[in-house]
Amino acid sequence: MTGEFCIGIDLGGTNLRIALLDAKYKIEDRESLSTRRFKNRRSLIAAIGKSVDNILARNRLKTKNILGVGIGLPGQVDFVRGIVHSLTNIRGWREVNLKRILQTKLRLPVFLDNDVKLMTLAEYTLGAARGAQNAVCLTLGTGVGGGIILEGRLYRGCSNAAGEIGHLPLNENGHRCNCGGFACLETYIGNNTILKKARKIFKEDISLEEVSRRARFRDHKAIEFWSDVGLHLGNALTGVVNILNPDVIVIGGGVANAGKVLFGQVKKVLSGRAMRVQASNVKIMPAKLGNDAGLIGAAIMVKAGVENR
Ligand SMILES: [Zn+2]
Repeated sequence: MTGEFCIGIDLGGTNLRIALLDAKYKIEDRESLSTRRFKNRRSLIAAIGKSVDNILARNRLKTKNILGVGIGLPGQVDFVRGIVHSLTNIRGWREVNLKRILQTKLRLPVFLDNDVKLMTLAEYTLGAARGAQNAVCLTLGTGVGGGIILEGRLYRGCSNAAGEIGHLPLNENGHRCNCGGFACLETYIGNNTILKKARKIFKEDISLEEVSRRARFRDHKAIEFWSDVGLHLGNALTGVVNILNPDVIVIGGGVANAGKVLFGQVKKVLSGRAMRVQASNVKIMPAKLGNDAGLIGAAIMVKAGVENR
């Protein structure tokens, strides 16, 4: 039973999660560590090695039972060369050849990509975009990430950086964005922006979860708040739908929990503003696989990567 399992790793700003997945992408074992406890890159990479060892030992597996290791990272990652260009909210990761470092350390094939691209692969293979040939996935959080499936394949672009829907410019003028540009979608609906706005509107130290809860209980101000978020998102997606003509747009991430009001508004904007043919064929769906999408996508990437070598 050589190479029946994969190791999936999801490095986030808050948690570093390492999992063992079987051939059907079922998670058999996992470890989770706080990302903030690592002072530097070296200690984080050492912890990955230790977790992989722990998981193999606990499951009585050897490296020969593992097909490879897949890692999703929050930032700009070159899938082909295995280089991390930079990470959002984690310091010390400029132009790091993580693939080479980890392959030497773990003695296993290693593949890496942007975390939202892996979520997209997972939702396309097993989740909300299953069966679609053309799909766009978005995650709404501190950052707004995106991934694109075109004609049944993850679209990566010439420098493996495609899919950044959060950095679609919505206006000629506007706030500076983390990406170096300005007036990007993320500056309108990223968590930091909308949280500030919520605290102004509700005049209290409110959380976005609470605003979602109030919207479900038909609180007028909360509904208006999420409609406004949906308006910006719908405007950006109008361009995406007109250009890419996807079967489905999958929306995940914390803010997606705002549910009905947000999705309703996005649909309304699309039907009013996008081109008729594209708009009438696109479905807007919530992500299905939740927090584990990144780990599952990592294993899918490993399988495809090993098969293509
Ligand atoms: Zn931007």
